[in-house]
Amino acid sequence: MPKYFVNEDFSLNEETIHHLKRVLRIKLGDKIILCDGKGFDYHVSICNLNPLEFTVDNKIACNTELDYKITLYQALPKSDKLELIVQKSVELGVYEIVPIITEHCDARPNLNKINRYQKISESAAGQSMRGIIPKIYNPIKLCDAIQDSSKPMLVAHEKATANFLAIAPKVVKGDSLGIWVGPDGGFSQTEIELMEQSGFETFSLGPRILRTETAAIAAIAMLQVVIQ
Ligand code: SAH
Repeated sequence: MPKYFVNEDFSLNEETIHHLKRVLRIKLGDKIILCDGKGFDYHVSICNLNPLEFTVDNKIACNTELDYKITLYQALPKSDKLELIVQKSVELGVYEIVPIITEHCDARPNLNKINRYQKISESAAGQSMRGIIPKIYNPIKLCDAIQDSSKPMLVAHEKATANFLAIAPKVVKGDSLGIWVGPDGGFSQTEIELMEQSGFETFSLGPRILRTETAAIAAIAMLQVVIQ
């Protein structure tokens, strides 16, 4: 059954209505899932097409969320790679994404794109049956993002000696964790030192140099092995 997120007042947004009518060509009696974005799914039946109306058949707690809140601190990658990173990490269960600006970032932060990333997050969340829409924040500088000391932080670093699967279980305490991934040009030595001084732990994903998008997706996928 297709799944969509509703607005705060339980209404459907224009894009969802358009998708239901024009793409899915929904008919009277068809069943869809509407999610409130707060962990509850409503199984509904379409009872009117113009305007689109539905009756609620069932309210069910959505059980697809990880027990653990993963924040991805992703350095701005080149071109439109952040779109892929948002889509895949949302499918894999990320809780929120904070794009960060680092020394070796080529990409300029583009606030106009945040709306687009948020839409990609919503559509990936619907497709993967999530119970929430992960929030995509405005890009912030690494030195500002580093101030967040509310949770354990793990930094993907190609020169790290500690293997991710060896250190992650020791760091997993409480219910949230930050994963940091550098840009195409990598983190600078100064940035790595700054993060280590702040108590962040660096980890390796193996001896190969991965593209930034591969590192983000691989780390979130591997984390699930550790936390479930
Ligand atoms: N410019 C660097 C590579 C950067 S790769 C170089 O050429 O040496 C981009 C980012 O992906 C890195 O900053 C790191 O966060 C992550 N990454 C890539 N390969 C990794 C690995 N083997 N282990 C951990 N992180 C890795």
